[in-house]
Amino acid sequence: FNYPLPANEPVQSYAPGSPERASLKKALVELKKKPLDIPMYIGGRAVKTGKKIAIRPPHETSHVLGHFHMGDDKNVQQAIDAALKAKEAWANMPWEERAHIFLKAADLLATKYRAYINGTTMLGQSKNAYQAEIDSACELIDFLRFNVHYLSEIYRQQPASSPGIHNRMEWRPLEGFVLAITPFNFTAIGGNLPTSAAMCGNVVVWKPADTQVYSAQMFMRILKEAGLPDGVINLVYVNGPALGKACFTHPDFAGVHFTGSTGVFNTIWETIGKNISKYRTYPRIVGETGGKDFVLVHKSADVDVVVTALARGAFEFQGQKCSAASRAYIPSNLAAAVKSKLIATVNSMKMGTVENFGNFINAVIDEKSFHKITGYIDRAKDDKKASILVGGTYDKSEGYFISPTVIEVKDPRYPSMVEEIFGPVLSLYVYEADDFDKVLSLVDSTSPYALTGSILAQDREAVAKATAGLRNAAGNFYINDKPTGAVVGQQPFGGARASGTNDKAGSMLNLYRWLSARTVKETF
Ligand code: GLU
Repeated sequence: FNYPLPANEPVQSYAPGSPERASLKKALVELKKKPLDIPMYIGGRAVKTGKKIAIRPPHETSHVLGHFHMGDDKNVQQAIDAALKAKEAWANMPWEERAHIFLKAADLLATKYRAYINGTTMLGQSKNAYQAEIDSACELIDFLRFNVHYLSEIYRQQPASSPGIHNRMEWRPLEGFVLAITPFNFTAIGGNLPTSAAMCGNVVVWKPADTQVYSAQMFMRILKEAGLPDGVINLVYVNGPALGKACFTHPDFAGVHFTGSTGVFNTIWETIGKNISKYRTYPRIVGETGGKDFVLVHKSADVDVVVTALARGAFEFQGQKCSAASRAYIPSNLAAAVKSKLIATVNSMKMGTVENFGNFINAVIDEKSFHKITGYIDRAKDDKKASILVGGTYDKSEGYFISPTVIEVKDPRYPSMVEEIFGPVLSLYVYEADDFDKVLSLVDSTSPYALTGSILAQDREAVAKATAGLRNAAGNFYINDKPTGAVVGQQPFGGARASGTNDKAGSMLNLYRWLSARTVKETF
């Protein structure tokens, strides 16, 4: 079964008067009217614990979208048992049958449920219609279809044979279960992490962030409708310690597919290390973590290109992307023009609920994030080493709103310039335009992360210099573009250093991590 390279799912415009806008608006009204009682899904069963946690739109905290049932380590144990029970039949199912389930899920997302997956993402995660469309519709659909294609390419790879000897490679899943831990910021990552492992024949325990449950349960229901057998992916809502207690000491723990913070990923490595003698096999540890993504501007850059890259790179989805532009290096010759155009652009961004499609900026995810982000803003207000160029206001009376903020720093090692903030805050440092070499080493050395970054320059030599000099500073490097918005199949995504294991989401590299091959030699 060879599934050819698919085309990317086209992005719908949601222009006024378009049919997709009408159906999305209808879905939003319906979702808001019908509060959901959301169970965990364990072995195909809906599990309710009675410990209910309310889900509220981050931009309208007075509204309740529903409740989810919080579980504990016993529920995780049930999920592991259900996964292991489903394992043999799933791993031995003909590959094409497994693939068809994920291709059907992609088609359901593209058609029947597009408005609902986007609607749950918009309301639950405060993403505007465009940001939801490129995430929960297009990127998730692309992950499913491209991974089926890549896996069919992997399965075709066979070793050489010689007269009297036939060799073959069996691309088996890992022995045990895989744990998927997913963040709030991309519904597509929530969908990709469990399904890419499952597609390879693995069984999965999936724990989404609490702030992702609303869209995650929607995707889980779609997988079920597409024919995913019970127990292959088990969706649980638990806290970290309960999850760790059940999973990281289990002999059948075979790997973890993680996206989240560097701190949590470090704890996962340490816990696995401590328990290493308990496991039947060495677990695979795959993670995408933090970022402090740079935009380096050369003196030859086009000012309009710079302003667009900064405004979109830093502020789309309130800067809550691991890839978001969060530190900018501006040459002194362009500083005045860049600053004034950036201020004007930021001032024109409308902020408010997702239901008004004209709002570019919505709310940040929760109260904890709100306090962390505004802490950086307050510090810059009170500090001689920094000044607020634009923004700097916030208000949580109706939702967690923070205006897009640009902080100009005098010290390139100022905290907001080196620490991950994960919000709508861009720090900007003006360097002496002729000191390009010096700024290159500054970009490379002032952050522990290496996820994404951009060089903006019209001078080819500067582009070449930055591309070579920043070789290890970003897993996704952009020339004359913003550092966000990687497209599945076009820019495989991931970074190294403190940003993760760089196993490129949506690529063969990632899928290999969920396979444990057996080489068989037959002599005759
Ligand atoms: N893949 C996304 C992008 O290129 C970022 C994913 C993330 O935030 O983890 O913008």
